[in-house]
Amino acid sequence: MFDSVLIANRGEIACRIIRTARRMGLRSIAVFSEADRDAAHVALADQAVAIGPAPAAESYLAIERIIGAARASGATAVHPGYGFLSENAAFAEACAAAGLIFIGPPAAAIRAMGSKSAAKALMARAGVPLVPGYHGDDQDPVRLEAEAAVIGYPVLIKASAGGGGKGMRIVTAPADFAAFLALAKGEARAAFGDDHVLIEKYLTRPRHIEIQVFADRFGNVVSLFERDCSIQRRHQKIIEEAPAPLMSEAQRLTMGEAACAAARAIDYVGAGTVEFIAEGGEFHFMEMNTRLQVEHPVTEMITGLDLVEWQFRVAVGEALPLTQNEIERVGHAIEVRIYAEDPARDFAPSTGTLHHLRLPEPSRHVRIDSGVREGDAVSVHYDPMIAKLIAWDTDRDGAIRHLAQALAGFEIDGVRNNIGLLRRIVTEADFAVADLDTGFIARHEAALMAAAPQASAVVYAAAIDRWLRDLPVSGDPASPWNVRTAWRLNGEAFQDLMVEADGAACSVRVYPRSECAFGFDLEGHIHQANVTAVAPDRVRVMVGGEVVTVTVLRREDLIVVFAHGHRHAMRVIDPFAARGEAAAGGGRVVTTMPGRVMAIGVAPGDIVAAGDLLVTIEAMKVQFRMTAPGGGVVRQVLCSVGELVEDGAELVTIEAEERA
Ligand code: ADP
Ligand code: ADP
Ligand code: MG
Repeated sequence: MFDSVLIANRGEIACRIIRTARRMGLRSIAVFSEADRDAAHVALADQAVAIGPAPAAESYLAIERIIGAARASGATAVHPGYGFLSENAAFAEACAAAGLIFIGPPAAAIRAMGSKSAAKALMARAGVPLVPGYHGDDQDPVRLEAEAAVIGYPVLIKASAGGGGKGMRIVTAPADFAAFLALAKGEARAAFGDDHVLIEKYLTRPRHIEIQVFADRFGNVVSLFERDCSIQRRHQKIIEEAPAPLMSEAQRLTMGEAACAAARAIDYVGAGTVEFIAEGGEFHFMEMNTRLQVEHPVTEMITGLDLVEWQFRVAVGEALPLTQNEIERVGHAIEVRIYAEDPARDFAPSTGTLHHLRLPEPSRHVRIDSGVREGDAVSVHYDPMIAKLIAWDTDRDGAIRHLAQALAGFEIDGVRNNIGLLRRIVTEADFAVADLDTGFIARHEAALMAAAPQASAVVYAAAIDRWLRDLPVSGDPASPWNVRTAWRLNGEAFQDLMVEADGAACSVRVYPRSECAFGFDLEGHIHQANVTAVAPDRVRVMVGGEVVTVTVLRREDLIVVFAHGHRHAMRVIDPFAARGEAAAGGGRVVTTMPGRVMAIGVAPGDIVAAGDLLVTIEAMKVQFRMTAPGGGVVRQVLCSVGELVEDGAELVTIEAEERA
């Protein structure tokens, strides 16, 4: 085995590869752009080398800089991860030329699968079933349109050099063909510098099923079974699982053999994935990815194998650790990709700072692969994936349960993300019965894009509590509890707050009771709340009979509450429109707190209406307005400006109006 490996990547996959390197006693070397100086993969590696500015073209995609970093650090091997240079044959060759072991297939195999068109021609010769279509060299638009007519609409135009769903267009009617062809070619030229396209029959309700293959230099090729990656948005995967639900052992075998035949046809070595599109019991080759796949963890969870370790072993010329018969599969695993993106805006990437990031606890059932930490920025430069969450159990139902639970444990503040969408997908009835196909999200759009649940009384209680605690404290260095202690009353004192919950404002009347208890009236329902801190940003809230521990964060005037697995953005508005009310009857207005009289708004003889301001009292730098409990005539003013008054002191007497 080599003794050191440079990882030519970033984020979660760099971290994941470093972990295996460490377990195997290999020195790990990270590379980083200027934007990634403080990134998790840099901190995790044994050593890290700067490779240039933030744009990937000048750092993670710059072959000569990566080779330079490998030389400078004395690395003996290079792992490209996925994305970036992982399917770049020139990079594989540059590594070899520099005397480095490239952890990936031979450059010739990368080239053979690099063009979807050429790959399909090759697969046809190897007897692998293809989607009906045209993948020839003739790119004359007239010819392409004629081929589309032969295939039958709808058809899919795909960039041969494509990836990431770019340069892909669905055409449903012949009249649109020419225009969509031009669009696809334009996109392909911009993204890949190559506008060669192929045409395929567009399957309307297919499943994406792929086979993980592994090959060594001795001609051994095995299948590590399939993954179902049908849950997609914009033709890109977001949920993947293994094994594929409802797949028969016979289908599994046939598909596995077809994938191994594909690998053999190009003398493949290492980890690869053969992607198929399946519909109505038939399956067709789509493409082969000559690298480690994002979703490889689900395969690891059901086989108990470490695919990166296998990659290392195969790269140094070892035989595959297991034969086909020795490879077992236990249980079911599902991965969800957590992205900084906005499902409501066509999944547009979201950038910003991860002000708060809490991940669920890993366990035997839950694996989390992440490459970001709280405080990191999600920038425009790189892929906006935040983490992959993988759940395993002995059966699919169990895996879904663990997945839903773990998703509820995620807390992300600072960027828009797809946690809510993922939770709704995994709890959708059709997902439970594995009615999966690539149109799943579009078909369930109404349910999946529904508004998040409204803030509950628990959420309001947590936000009000936080707001009360954060009230400024005066010269007295004692804790903010003072404010609330000062509020302790024997009568019905209250304070009206305007609380904005997830953008909708509503008035809440708060009745302080003690340091950690208060009542509040929310839309006509009176709730009694008891809130105690259990950690700096965690409180235990008791409302009614319910006890829930929630996270409460303060970001400027925003109070973010994570409760029941949902994020709520709360804001308390118009804070000092408070109203203390006369505790005793008979028109005597008494203070509801000890404090200093700041202003007196009335004089004897004045006629007042209910709610009119009488006296302003300051306690702990907060001003409280004492208002008239009812209409009448002011008889006496019993305090003066600047005076310190005790709790319960009489301030004003009002004589009730004579009723006619
Ligand atoms: P990429 O290189 O972007 O991964 P693929 O060829 O693998 O491109 O296709 C990506 C996705 O597009 C598939 O997973 C599937 O959802 C959809 N797709 C591809 N080909 C077809 C087809 N012929 N009919 C229907 N959907 C397709
Ligand atoms: P899969 O490996 O399952 O085919 P995708 O095709 O959806 O997964 O994702 C792989 C592609 O996504 C890469 O080719 C790359 O364009 C992009 N990508 C995702 N995450 C990263 C990352 N951390 N670094 C670089 N590219 C990434
Ligand atoms: Mg693909």
